[in-house]
Amino acid sequence: MINDALKKKLNYCTTLPTLPAVAIKIIELANDPDADIGTVCQYISLDPVLSAKLLRTANSPLYKSRRIATNIRQAVSILGTHTVIIVALSFSLTNSLMKNPLPNAATTFDSDIFWRRSITSALACRALGEKLELSFLDDLFLAGLIQEIGILAYWLIMPEEYNKIFSSTSDHDALLKTEQEQLGTGHDELGYALLKKWHIPDYIALSCISSHSQPEPKELGPTLQACVAVSRYLADYFLHPHEAGKMTTLTKAAHDWLELDNTALIVVIKIMEVELKSVEDLFETSIHHPSETAEILTEARELLMIHSLARMKELEEKSQHDGLTGAHNRTYFDETLRREFYLSREYNLPLTVAMIDLDHFKNVNDIYGHIAGDSLLATVVKTIFEQIRQDDTLSRYGGEEFALILPGTTLSASRNLISRLKDAITEIAYQFDDHRTIRITASIGVASYNGGATHFLEPLELLKAADTALYAAKNAGRNQIIEWDSL
Ligand code: GH3
Ligand code: MG
Ligand code: MG
Repeated sequence: MINDALKKKLNYCTTLPTLPAVAIKIIELANDPDADIGTVCQYISLDPVLSAKLLRTANSPLYKSRRIATNIRQAVSILGTHTVIIVALSFSLTNSLMKNPLPNAATTFDSDIFWRRSITSALACRALGEKLELSFLDDLFLAGLIQEIGILAYWLIMPEEYNKIFSSTSDHDALLKTEQEQLGTGHDELGYALLKKWHIPDYIALSCISSHSQPEPKELGPTLQACVAVSRYLADYFLHPHEAGKMTTLTKAAHDWLELDNTALIVVIKIMEVELKSVEDLFETSIHHPSETAEILTEARELLMIHSLARMKELEEKSQHDGLTGAHNRTYFDETLRREFYLSREYNLPLTVAMIDLDHFKNVNDIYGHIAGDSLLATVVKTIFEQIRQDDTLSRYGGEEFALILPGTTLSASRNLISRLKDAITEIAYQFDDHRTIRITASIGVASYNGGATHFLEPLELLKAADTALYAAKNAGRNQIIEWDSL
């Protein structure tokens, strides 16, 4: 929580705007679960500007109403009591804060940028809610709108000190950290304290804090807090679509906190594009020229496409490799063997396959434990990789059994490599602890297509031949290489 000095400043600050009477009444209503429609209409009618805004809101495309409201009572019946209260609160808060002149010392603070960002976050937060089919869209809008109010509060209560901190970085997370270090409190907690001072309901006020930390995901479904947290990145992207990296942060947050994929994000940006005009009108502000928003959407589509491709590639890579050792997996081996076999047959090229099985590997586990065994397996794979060419495929065929495909290699040409491999495995001295070194050997069976004595008809026949040779090597006492042709 915020420290006493800061609390005092917040409570006795003369530069902080006092909320207009109507805003205070509306906050009272927001805290009253039994607020009735008559009282709501009565308070709002006291403020002609607010009344006009609510009428326009009720008639704006944001609410997709088929009825046209011509007076406040109709507006309230279209929007519902809760929505009217929350929308009225959004207007009266921004209105009293936007119109409030900042102290002279706040020279580097650009309140235009601040409000553009806040209103864009509100729009983003509401659009996320629409995509997720949440019912509390107006709460989302308000929470998105005021999540950074603490920054404004700092400018108002200590402009000179804050100026130094604010201008030291353009990165939001770095700003928060500097505030915490130098002022003892971040703008997240200060914002929350300010909203509590104004008696804004807790579930809204909390957006200041939770938008700055990672929300609790999933179990409860998409929460207001998670939407607010993602809205920050969405607004950042929407305002600075050309800055590299904004999309990456956004896709990650949307995926991790709301389980929204790239296609869903495009829908959300599209909703923002459609609703932007209404929000700009209602808040009398300009965020983007219409041609710019169309461009943002096109660019987002392209960027997300690139993202999806990169992600697909990553998944494909994962699906082809064994997690423990980094060698290819069995599925990849089967496909590669088929492909290489038929290529060799078609172009009359040699092809050699070697099966490598570690000797008495069970003993390693029994003596040193599975963890050491795992680590040794990874070391063996690394050792083999150091010996083979780029075109060769090493796969983990089973637990401690590996298969090597050597395209374009005859049996005699493979001999050198295979015997180097066997030696390299024997030379591994795996340091288990200060006084124990683990050593292992391998048995290897080799078979070749083309150039060998047998003419294999199927990839599986070639594989079986290498496997039979491997078992012959085991039976002959292990730690040796046997070729199918010699059997
Ligand atoms: P052989 O010389 O006859 O090949 O003896 P072996 O003990 O290596 O052969 P066997 O096939 O009977 O047992 C293989 C052992 O390899 C069984 C298991 O304990 C170990 N193993 C298989 N996969 C893994 C693994 O992923 N991690 C570890 N740590 N051990 C594994
Ligand atoms: Mg073995
Ligand atoms: Mg085995």
